[in-house]
Amino acid sequence: MSAAGTSLPPVGVLGGTFNPVHYGHLRSALELVERLQLQQLRLMPCAVPPHREAPACSAQHRAAMVGLAVAGEPRLICDSRELQRKGKSYTIDSLIELRDELGADPGLCLVMGCDAVLAIDTWHRWRELLDWAHIVVIARPGWHLPQSGTVARWLAGHQLPAAAALDRPAGGIIVEELRPLAISATEIRDLLAAGRSARYLLPEPVLDYIESHQLYQ
Ligand code: ATP
Repeated sequence: MSAAGTSLPPVGVLGGTFNPVHYGHLRSALELVERLQLQQLRLMPCAVPPHREAPACSAQHRAAMVGLAVAGEPRLICDSRELQRKGKSYTIDSLIELRDELGADPGLCLVMGCDAVLAIDTWHRWRELLDWAHIVVIARPGWHLPQSGTVARWLAGHQLPAAAALDRPAGGIIVEELRPLAISATEIRDLLAAGRSARYLLPEPVLDYIESHQLYQ
């Protein structure tokens, strides 16, 4: 991989279960595209999560909802590569694939919320993630970055201002404060299971899809 000075705009990737996708994901994704001047941000639904129980809602449904949510916003893309792979969906495998597709020079940014970073040392080959991408950490209401321990030391050792990090294709940790939106998929599932409305927490076409496929009831 080449060292410095790429002029190609970086690509972002936001992994998650998206069970279902909501405005917390979408607004953060769009703000990040504009803040970091990304050429695109790929929302990448996880098929078989390595660290949590497989969602009752299939990966196909979750990816279809992400597709509906980003329709009409060309800078946000549904990346369903993890649905094509067998076995657990390891992020490192997706980053290696993406790097292969992009070539060595463009910046690649793996985006995650604070809550995801807290457990990153349990991820498969976690220290290698920075060989393939930057990590962009976004603040999330109710969550704080760790102040001590392995992950805190790792963050401190790699954190850079965005401009300095994005001068290279990979290797930096960028922390961005975006508009806090206290929305979680868990809360949406709970509302729907209780027969209450989740309207205005997620896009209307996603809600229509949930209703027509009788998900989360
Ligand atoms: P669940 O409640 O089922 O755990 P979730 O709402 O946290 O789901 P995920 O699909 O697990 O959604 O999240 C994917 C990524 O998006 C994670 O990195 C997570 O931190 C981030 N994220 C989720 N909700 C928000 C939000 N409201 N604001 C910012 N980031 C978010």
